[in-house]
Amino acid sequence: MNFESAVQTYLGEIDFDPARLKEKYLAERDKRIRDEGIDQYIEVTADFSHYEDDPYTPRAERDPLFDHVDVVVIGGGFGGLLTGARLAEAGYTKIRLIDKAGDFGGTWYWNRYPGAMCDVESYCYLPLLEELNYVPKHKYSFAPEILEHSRNIARKFNLYEHACLQTAVTGMQWDDDAARWIITTDRRDEMTADFVVMSNGPLSRPKLPGIPGINEFKGHTFHTSRWDYNYTGGDSYGNLHKLKDKRVGIVGTGATAVQCIPHLGEWAAELYVFQRTPSSIDTRNNHETDPGWAASLQPGWQQERMDNFNIMTNGGDADVDMVHDGWTDIYRNLTGTAAKQASRTLGRRLTDTEREELIELSDYRKMNSIRRRVDQIVSDPATAQALKPWYRQFCKRPCFHDEYLQTYNRPNVQLVDTHGKGVERLTEHGVVVDDQEYEVDCLIFATGFEVGTSYTRRSGYDITGRDGVTLSEYWADEMRTFQGVMSRGFPNCFFLGFTQTAITVNVPHALNEQAKHAAHIVAETRLRQKQRVEPTAQAEADYVNEIHRLARTNEQFYIECTPGYYNSEGREGNKEGFFSGMHGAGPIKFYNQLRAWRAAGTLEGLELY
Ligand code: NDP
Repeated sequence: MNFESAVQTYLGEIDFDPARLKEKYLAERDKRIRDEGIDQYIEVTADFSHYEDDPYTPRAERDPLFDHVDVVVIGGGFGGLLTGARLAEAGYTKIRLIDKAGDFGGTWYWNRYPGAMCDVESYCYLPLLEELNYVPKHKYSFAPEILEHSRNIARKFNLYEHACLQTAVTGMQWDDDAARWIITTDRRDEMTADFVVMSNGPLSRPKLPGIPGINEFKGHTFHTSRWDYNYTGGDSYGNLHKLKDKRVGIVGTGATAVQCIPHLGEWAAELYVFQRTPSSIDTRNNHETDPGWAASLQPGWQQERMDNFNIMTNGGDADVDMVHDGWTDIYRNLTGTAAKQASRTLGRRLTDTEREELIELSDYRKMNSIRRRVDQIVSDPATAQALKPWYRQFCKRPCFHDEYLQTYNRPNVQLVDTHGKGVERLTEHGVVVDDQEYEVDCLIFATGFEVGTSYTRRSGYDITGRDGVTLSEYWADEMRTFQGVMSRGFPNCFFLGFTQTAITVNVPHALNEQAKHAAHIVAETRLRQKQRVEPTAQAEADYVNEIHRLARTNEQFYIECTPGYYNSEGREGNKEGFFSGMHGAGPIKFYNQLRAWRAAGTLEGLELY
């Protein structure tokens, strides 16, 4: 059998013209490329800093702290909570989580917009389910349940006791004589800790579009991650009754907008959706948890399910697809797994070109079905046409929703397509697109979060290591870590998040692996009665080389993609893209590598003193 026949066996008849589709994709991309790249966005400081204010918890005053704890963990989201839990399991009791937010939950503290829910299956996504003896109520949990689960993790592992909430770290300095970190905050604290863990979150700083006139608009505005329920009424489940007589505009149609637009459409007198690039919307199929299934779960079930999902979404082989949803479907068909099946049919390995061709064809076929779905659901043909995504599936975050497209059939909802240009400007009363002004009472920014700016700008503080060198200086050219968790010159300091590690669709899975690793090193350092731990210069250099050697930049793929935060807004080279600098072995191998390293017990590559 030749390659063409193998492709046909796998994909069926190719009833489209790949060359024409590619041309269309590139033309749509070119429309959107802007010279400013990431600089098109406004940092939420100075005049815009109120966009970051906490609308959920009134500020409580407290006296500054000058005490000492074992470990300070910065960030009260899943990364911080998992680290706290793993340290508590290792016997630590003086663990202090610090967060700007008024409670735990991280992204789930901030993102309470109506309709917010996790879009990775909750049985895999919510951390520590077995430890808390909890099974989520739905296949995809709604935000309030996830926030409550975060609080329950904190209660279970006693993390409220030393927590500093509503507190922003302003700096950290290593005191080598005392072998401790000095941590300063905006509450005038000057506390110390033997170890620090930075779990700042990859998408934590809201960003705003740099639209002319953004300060002129006199109506009400807010960012989706600071939803103003005083203004809209209702809660995360909907019922936005105060919008009944309001004209509402929303800028952005990414994963967040897709979830909240159905609620805005249901309640606003008029809703204008200002779109630059449509998202790809596949079916969701959420449902309540079957109590019989929940009762049948055996110990170890969550790790097994997470591992299975990780395998299914990273081209591995497994007999069953336990999660069996939109994610596993696209990964099965649009990544290496497709190539594996075709090569089995063919009886030989595919060449790189054949592999790429097959995956590209699969992608076109998938996106054709996404575009057909729009036609099937949206009644107005012009609106349907504008809602069709013309790019490859993984150029942007794939979305899954069963009410989003339907919202455009409501008479009070109007899609204002900007043909890739974006909103032109704001006036006192509304939004201008193509010289037409749309008057609104309220404008909601669903414009996402900072990506591609420096790690320290996003975290809001810098840290000073052993020789007076700051992390922003040390990482000025690129991140330099050992195993993605530590850097030379910054003893007893750990990083969690997208720091030269392997990342997977189920981000809490990755955070759990990192948390276990950091907690292991902390515990081993104490067990060996040492005060300091850091990677050797050689081990760090070797690891950075490994990152370079195995780098899967997918450069051509991202260059051809429509701009967004995955590809540094379309900048050539994608050096600062969301997934740049990740470990190319992929999460299955990488996590096994970390496990094997821990099991060896030699702490190879680390210096303890
Ligand atoms: P995104 O960055 O994905 O989306 C921002 C949106 O704003 C895009 O549609 C962008 O258009 C648009 N935009 C920016 N500037 C302008 C402008 N000048 N005029 C018009 N439109 C503009 O942010 P989100 O908050 O939607 O999502 C961020 C990430 O958070 C997701 O990718 C996902 O990882 C995560 N998330 C996860 C969810 C879950 O798991 N349940 C739910 C929500 C978010 P363009 O595409 O053209 O740049």
